[in-house]
Amino acid sequence: MKLSSKFSGFVLAFLCSSLTLAADKLSVVASFSVLGDITKELGGDKIALTTLVGPNQDSHVYSPTPFDVQTLAKSDVMVINGLSFEGWITRLEQSSGFKGLRVVASKGADIIEFNEEHHEEEHDDEEYEKNEHEKHQQSAAHKDQDEHSHGDQDPHAWHSLANIRVYINNISAALITADAANKDYYQVKRQAYLAKVDALGKRLAAKVATVPVAQRQVIISHDAFGYLGRDYHFSFLAPVGLNTQMKPSAADVALLIRQVKAQNIKALFVENVSDDRLIKQIGRETGAKLGGHLYSDALSAKNEPAATYLKMMEYNIDTLIDELQKVL
Ligand SMILES: [Zn+2]
Repeated sequence: MKLSSKFSGFVLAFLCSSLTLAADKLSVVASFSVLGDITKELGGDKIALTTLVGPNQDSHVYSPTPFDVQTLAKSDVMVINGLSFEGWITRLEQSSGFKGLRVVASKGADIIEFNEEHHEEEHDDEEYEKNEHEKHQQSAAHKDQDEHSHGDQDPHAWHSLANIRVYINNISAALITADAANKDYYQVKRQAYLAKVDALGKRLAAKVATVPVAQRQVIISHDAFGYLGRDYHFSFLAPVGLNTQMKPSAADVALLIRQVKAQNIKALFVENVSDDRLIKQIGRETGAKLGGHLYSDALSAKNEPAATYLKMMEYNIDTLIDELQKVL
């Protein structure tokens, strides 16, 4: 029995050391892949991170698992986007009895209200005005019918590098509140990450400037890029039905084709999680070009081009601008 008691002693020592290691780290849960990546950059090896909705997964239709409930119950910090993006989070929070620190990353960010007028460029074309009117009517219908809608505010605020500075500051401040002993470490991480965001911002602004504002018109499979449009003066058109949840009617498709022709739009894009058949049909009927996939509500898998938040921002802008340059 000597061997066996030696073995249990070893197992016990091993378990104790892993428990000590885990206990040393701040336990953090992030709601989805974008926030998971940002939180990992800020928390480094001082946190044990769990991300609930992973790469290429749709946060809108997520159903929390019993494992998620257990994970959240044991966590010190929970990071969410807010703005009604994670419709399932309140129930998860309640069933887990979470007692830690809850961070709404978008708090204080510059948020797009859905009743705002986003298109301020001057167009004297009557056809354009008519299309804009129809587009807005569609947006209203889209909000009522579509599971993708999130409320009166556009939740996809992470697509703005200016907003992401707010996200970074909110998340970093929460890590420091929950784990003050590592304050200096978190502050160094925060400064380093903000510097990367600034460097990327400069590069992307220079890249976008190579295409005139009037040419920055694209069709996208659904409306998740309002912030990219605002920051970089892209005009994104994403009519009803063009998403993963709904089938558009023949009238929707006909309207979209008229819009593409009237506005002389030459580039079409789809998202990482949507069906591209309709986009292809519109391409055939209008001569607009299918420009590829953009990443909106989730990062890509590790072996794909948008595996981190910064890579996603860079990939989306590079893809948009490269395609628009081809059709200039
Ligand atoms: Zn969304």
